Amino acid sequence: MSDFNADIVVVGAGASGIGAALAATEKNAKVILLEKGDKFGGAGMFGAQGLFAAGSELQKKANNNYSPDDAYKEMMNYTHYRSNTRLTRAIVDKSADTISWLANNGLKTELVNNTQEVHQEHPRVYHQYIDKFNGFQNLMDNFTSNGGQLFTKTTIKKLVRDDKKVLKVTIDQDGVEKSIDCQKVIFSDGGFVGNPKMVDKYIQIDSDDLFSMGERKATGDGIKILASLGADTSGIGTFENHAASVVSKTDPKWHNDTIFTLTNLPFLWLNRRGERFVNEDICYDFALWGNSTYTNGGYYYFVLDQKTVEYLKTNQLNWTNSFERTFTTLAHTPVTHVVGPFPEIESDLAEAVAQGAAKVANTIENLSEDLGFDAKKVKENLDGYNKVISAEKDSEFGKPSKFLKFSVEQGPFYAIKAQSTTLGTIGGVAVDDKLHVINNEGQVIENVYATGNNASGMYDTSYPTLEGISCAFAWNSGRIAGEDAAENI
Ligand SMILES: Cc1cc2nc3c(=O)[nH]c(=O)nc-3n(C[C@H](O)[C@H](O)[C@H](O)COP(=O)(O)OP(=O)(O)OC[C@H]3O[C@@H](n4cnc5c(N)ncnc54)[C@H](O)[C@@H]3O)c2cc1C
Repeated sequence: MSDFNADIVVVGAGASGIGAALAATEKNAKVILLEKGDKFGGAGMFGAQGLFAAGSELQKKANNNYSPDDAYKEMMNYTHYRSNTRLTRAIVDKSADTISWLANNGLKTELVNNTQEVHQEHPRVYHQYIDKFNGFQNLMDNFTSNGGQLFTKTTIKKLVRDDKKVLKVTIDQDGVEKSIDCQKVIFSDGGFVGNPKMVDKYIQIDSDDLFSMGERKATGDGIKILASLGADTSGIGTFENHAASVVSKTDPKWHNDTIFTLTNLPFLWLNRRGERFVNEDICYDFALWGNSTYTNGGYYYFVLDQKTVEYLKTNQLNWTNSFERTFTTLAHTPVTHVVGPFPEIESDLAEAVAQGAAKVANTIENLSEDLGFDAKKVKENLDGYNKVISAEKDSEFGKPSKFLKFSVEQGPFYAIKAQSTTLGTIGGVAVDDKLHVINNEGQVIENVYATGNNASGMYDTSYPTLEGISCAFAWNSGRIAGEDAAENI
């Protein structure tokens, strides 16, 4: 005899879990929603500011004709058809309705300009949350008033499938083991970015070089249970690489405004072999910037010389801070398209050195030695870059001439380490277009679903450049799973 019973158990009360749980109660299912933490919301609430949609009422009102067909084609081109076509179609087709559904349930959004500089010519797709925290509370209130039960401080421990019709879920509820009998389980516990062992196993860089902004409580619990049931995990190991960050070696909370801004600008970058490796204005697209950092071993150094530092101390620079638009969009203020001056830049750089995030040296030889680089190679790369600057044409990587302003010639030289940054993992178990979990033989495992960051198939090796697509995947995959589970009780 179990302690509780329900039609459906949803594991994890983030974006996809709330989507699944609320959608299922709307179809009259009896739902228990488990949340490991003492608060619901996950990265879908504390992190995300909005989600993608194609063909929403807000887009139609703005005479924006971007359609689910456009989105489908864009996604499939981006992933070279290595992703799940039916799943992608299902998500983009539902995305407009989900904007209305969220609003009707109390989480309103507004259609804003895409938040990244290079996406300004792309049709607007980013629907920014309005009054996010109250909006999430409204969704939860609707879930409970539909008869749903939220168990916080509760984590799933085990799933036993003695019988195809009844599943027994063992839970740890604030230290006490209990059980729930149910018919279907939807795993929405947010992937595994909070599990260092799993990250180590599946990441392609040294995990010490990964800076995670993701949900720490997402420790792969659901993926592990589903793998034990034979789920196909071949798509695991895709990370939501997003920009790059300068991180203190000693203080995880360290933040310095000047260093943060300089990281978001296209100065000279050198990879772990001391080579220039990219047109640094890639920093204006967070997914591509993240991918470039990740595929270059997980970090690079941006390099300034003293002449540049002197310039930045007193001059404003006619460049855009790549992150500024994100913050100004939220605050409804205009983007300035200028940065600096940075009167304290020398002490800011000294602080970065003290935090173990940067090196400074009087000569290129000494800087190279400190970074473990071959000085000859670094010199060759600096010579190449300095020629690019004097020619005002980037024959190496095609960085626009506007950004070819600062040569690197005069010591002291500063190298600031920017690390691969992730918002979470976005590969887990294979699913079909109803979010049923698929086993290693390509067949549905009955009565179990995976949504949001637990599910593979929407992406290939990386997170695409469509703004808000990961949260859109979470909400829409959750809703589809919740509806399907409720309809098939
Ligand atoms: C800083 C940041 C900014 C972001 N910005 C955006 C954005 O603007 N737009 C966008 O599209 N995406 C954004 N994302 C990504 C987006 O937040 C995620 O794609 C989305 O939240 C994934 O939804 P999910 O339901 O899978 O996981 P989550 O929303 O993280 O929810 C997972 C939930 O499961 C709970 N849980 C974990 N383990 C268990 C367990 N064993 N039992 C019970 N509960 C458990 C967790 O506590 C958590 O509440 C951002 C992410 C971050 C970190």
